[in-house]
Amino acid sequence: MTLRPLMARFESATHEPHPLSSEDGLELGLTRVVRAGSSDETRPVVLVTHGQTASTDMFVLPETRNFVEVLLDAGFEPWLFDWRGSCRLPYNESGTPYSFDDVALYDFPRAVSAVRARIGSRKLFVVAHCVGALTLAMSLSAGLVQNLAGVVAQGVFLTPKLAFGSRLRLGFMADLVRPWVGNVPVDFRKVGLRSKFTPLFALASIGADCPDPTCQILHNSAWGSGASLFVHDNLHPTTHDRLADLLGPAPTCILPHLRKMELARSVVRWNEGDDRYRALPANALDQAHRIDCPLLLLSGSRNGLWLDSNKLCLDVLKKRQPQLDVRYVEVPGYGHFDAFTGRSAALDVFPYITRWLSERAQPTA
Ligand SMILES: [Zn+2]
Repeated sequence: MTLRPLMARFESATHEPHPLSSEDGLELGLTRVVRAGSSDETRPVVLVTHGQTASTDMFVLPETRNFVEVLLDAGFEPWLFDWRGSCRLPYNESGTPYSFDDVALYDFPRAVSAVRARIGSRKLFVVAHCVGALTLAMSLSAGLVQNLAGVVAQGVFLTPKLAFGSRLRLGFMADLVRPWVGNVPVDFRKVGLRSKFTPLFALASIGADCPDPTCQILHNSAWGSGASLFVHDNLHPTTHDRLADLLGPAPTCILPHLRKMELARSVVRWNEGDDRYRALPANALDQAHRIDCPLLLLSGSRNGLWLDSNKLCLDVLKKRQPQLDVRYVEVPGYGHFDAFTGRSAALDVFPYITRWLSERAQPTA
C-alpha cells in the first residue's frame, strides 16, 4: 500500500477507500464519503480532486468547515480522487517521470469509470482544482470522460496563463534545474540550512512578511516560480503550520509540459510521436466542442499563480464554442489554494459551487 492515509477527522461521516489503479499500473487514491448511519443511495455524486503536489487532504481540513462537509450538508455524496501528482502518493518524489498526458489518459478516465461502476446511473459531477482541472480539460476534450452532469474548474482549465516573471523562471527551471534535481521540496525542516535548495529558499525569503521558510517558498515563490499560491491572511493558523503536509515537493519532470502549455496559452499534448498518446488532442482548445457538460470556471480575484486564466478561458470559449454552457465566477479577496483551504471558504467560496451543482442536480423532466 503506497497511499498515505487521509489527514481528516470524520465525525458525522464515514469514508470507504476504494482500490484504484491507473491504466498504466500505478496505485491511485479513491475514497467515498457518506453520512454516518445513512444508507442513502440516491444522492448526486461529486468527484473532488486536487492540484499538483497537493492531495485530497485539502478538502477535508479538520481545522475548518471543509468542502466535503459542505457537500454532505448540501445533499451530495463526495468522492475523493488522488491522481498521480498527489502528495499522498510517492510518485512526485520517486518513480517513473510523468507528464500531464499520463494523468489525462490513464488517471481520470479510470477514476470516473470506477465511480460509475459503484453509483450506477446517478448524476456525477467533478470539482477539480488547479492542474487537476487542467488535466481533466484534456480528458474531456479527448472524449475520454463523457456524460458528466457538470464540471467545476478552480483556477485554470483550458487556457493556462502565468505572470511574465513566472514564465521566465519556469523556463530556467525546466532547462537548467531539471537535469540536476528530481523535485523541489518545500519542507524546510527536511531540507535544512545547507543544501542545494538553500538559494531557492533564500530567494523566496526576500521581502517576505512571514518568517516560516515553508510558507515563504509557497506564498512568495510557489516552488521557485515567483508566483503566490494563496492569500496569507485567508489561512487558518493550523493550516498555515501544516503547509508542508498539504503541499509536497514539486516534481521537475512536469516542467517542460507545463512550459509548453503556458507558451501556447492552451492545454496541449506533450508526447508528439508516441502512439500510446494518440487519443489525446494536440491542442485541447481545438477539440473543446467535445466537452458535453456544463462548466463552472472559478477563480479568486487575487489568484497569484494562474492570474485571470479562467476569465480568459470564458472569453475564448464564448467566442469559439458558443454552444457550451459555461459560467465564470470570480471570488473577491481569494487567491488560489485558499479558495478551498481558506478558513472562511465555507462562507465565501463554497456556496457558489454548491448552488451551481444543486441547480444541475435536479432531476430532468
Ligand atoms: Zn506564513
